[in-house]
Amino acid sequence: GKGLAVFTSGGDSQGMNAAVRAVVRMGVYLGCKVYFIHEGYQGMVDGGPHIEEAQWSSVSSIIHKGGTVIGSARCMDFKERAGRLKACKNLVDCGISNLVCIGGDGSLTGANLFREEWSSLLDELLQKGEIDKEKHGKNQKLHIVGLVGSIDNDFCGTDMTIGTDSALHRIIEAIDAISSTAYSHRRTFILEVMGRHCGYLAVVTALASEATMVFIPEKPDRVDWADRLCEKLIQERNAGQRLSIIIVAEGAVDMEGKPITAEMVKEIVVTNLQQDTRVTVLGHVQRGGNPSAFDRILGSRMGAEAVMALMEADENTDACVISLVGNQAVRLPLMECVKRTKAVAQAMAEKRWDEAVEMRGKS
Ligand code: ATP
Repeated sequence: GKGLAVFTSGGDSQGMNAAVRAVVRMGVYLGCKVYFIHEGYQGMVDGGPHIEEAQWSSVSSIIHKGGTVIGSARCMDFKERAGRLKACKNLVDCGISNLVCIGGDGSLTGANLFREEWSSLLDELLQKGEIDKEKHGKNQKLHIVGLVGSIDNDFCGTDMTIGTDSALHRIIEAIDAISSTAYSHRRTFILEVMGRHCGYLAVVTALASEATMVFIPEKPDRVDWADRLCEKLIQERNAGQRLSIIIVAEGAVDMEGKPITAEMVKEIVVTNLQQDTRVTVLGHVQRGGNPSAFDRILGSRMGAEAVMALMEADENTDACVISLVGNQAVRLPLMECVKRTKAVAQAMAEKRWDEAVEMRGKS
């Protein structure tokens, strides 16, 4: 059977375990020799016990767990050719020529670079006498498939990334908990949620929690947001509402691109309206806890589809990313999606917000 390995890289997200489980089980089912690579690219570079053969039973009882049970890491070594050469040798030694990379755009960029370099890495190892001809022949090509694990839903080409739905559940739970105390004390609560470049979590949360206003990295639509916020808060209280919720994304900015923070918003509310106002920063709670049913199924579907894509790959197949488009798992060209995602980040940095939103095609 074919040698296949799965690893998780970059920031963790809920549902990654479901994806790992599906990759292992689909791989075993189709007769592959399946490996875990622990600790992302670091484990690939270090080899040894980090690359471990997986069995059907190795992935029992992980679908409900948050994070990633095989570990994730950021790895400087893999950014250098010398590190990738070591990784190549470790994979060749195990007969691995198929990779499922679960991570964000950085991890997928690394995987694609590795794939492009593969034959030159093999040549170098062969010249140095570190691998033999027989294995070299068998590993002429490296096939890779990417799955996007990220709570931010900031990746172009997929409707949902693995982990976003669970993060939304976590945020909504927190807001519901805060709402009862806010209601009792007639407070205004300002909640900071994750999303440095993407307001998806903030916008969806705001809609689902009847928030008064939401601030996102894609800039506010008017200059007079502070006045409008105060007006709206007064209106709500006059209508008998006992609590108000304001959502601020981590990377929220104003029309000039200057940060809008939860503390700034609080200052405005307190100074102008003297309302009892509290700030809550949710932080890593959003990444924690068990994955939602949606993320378990999403991870499972994508993991299974990734293995199918690898099994069908031939000499001419390009790297793909498994995406969710209109509730269908589809294969899209990996580098095109990564490039578009990077172009969106660039456009945001250059304050071309409308263009960024258009390019992203979501939020
Ligand atoms: P997230 O941003 O959601 O945490 P990510 O996958 O984008 O996920 P990064 O920290 O950008 O996270 O990348 C994870 C790892 O992927 C890096 O530590 C590095 O080992 C590898 N990597 C990223 N970019 C490259 C690159 N251009 N070349 C080689 N390896 C890379």
